[in-house]
Amino acid sequence: MTMFITRRGMMKSVGVSTLAAFSGAGISRAVASGTPPEPGPTSKIPVVAGAMKSLSKSGEYLLTPLPYAYGALAPEIEETILRIHHTKHHQGYVNGLNGTLKRLVQARASGDFSQVKPLCRSLAFHGSGHVLHTLYWNSMKPGGSGAPTGNLKAALQHDFGSLEAFKAQFLATTKKVEGSGWGLLAYEPLGGKLLVLQVEKHQNLTIWGVVPLLVCDVWEHAYYLQYQNHRGDYVDNFFKLIDWEAVAGRLAQVVK
Ligand code: FE
Repeated sequence: MTMFITRRGMMKSVGVSTLAAFSGAGISRAVASGTPPEPGPTSKIPVVAGAMKSLSKSGEYLLTPLPYAYGALAPEIEETILRIHHTKHHQGYVNGLNGTLKRLVQARASGDFSQVKPLCRSLAFHGSGHVLHTLYWNSMKPGGSGAPTGNLKAALQHDFGSLEAFKAQFLATTKKVEGSGWGLLAYEPLGGKLLVLQVEKHQNLTIWGVVPLLVCDVWEHAYYLQYQNHRGDYVDNFFKLIDWEAVAGRLAQVVK
């Protein structure tokens, strides 16, 4: 899931983008006029393949700090869950990603690619785990931010029929993930559409090229200490915490 396909490149490849359909939303109009879409991105808006880049001097991936205190999302998500989730689980994916890359360096140096298949599996798993967790922390803010507005609101209404229909689809999709995975709102650049996807583990059931804008972690480690088997209650409360301004900022950046 990368954001290397720009809107300009997309327009070249498919001709008329369905982004033009957002005439009411103002996305294409804002882009064409050079005026910033509203609500505009801020310096705090993280993007998966941009502002979130965080590497050590030696090129290792780093665990990025949360944009709020561990207790700041309570009561919807309690401090203990957030602390363990971030410092143990997310750190584990970062460690797994770095470890896998080191083993690939060793494989190239030795010419021994006998383990390349499990290493590729590990690279996709841990790499996607790192990306999605980074986005997850930045999909929420203490108390949430109410409801989508501006261009994001218009795009959701255009592609899902209404905000209520989007919410119903996103919640149902996320609650019904089989086993461990994610609910995900993404921008698909070839069609210029917003889609809701259901991710299994961290890396399965995606569409290449989509840019995730909003993600909800439904691995049990994200909620079980507080919600036990009531995943639905956790997902409903996650929805209250969504930072819609951050989501809107990511959409604005990706349609540039
Ligand atoms: Fe997780």
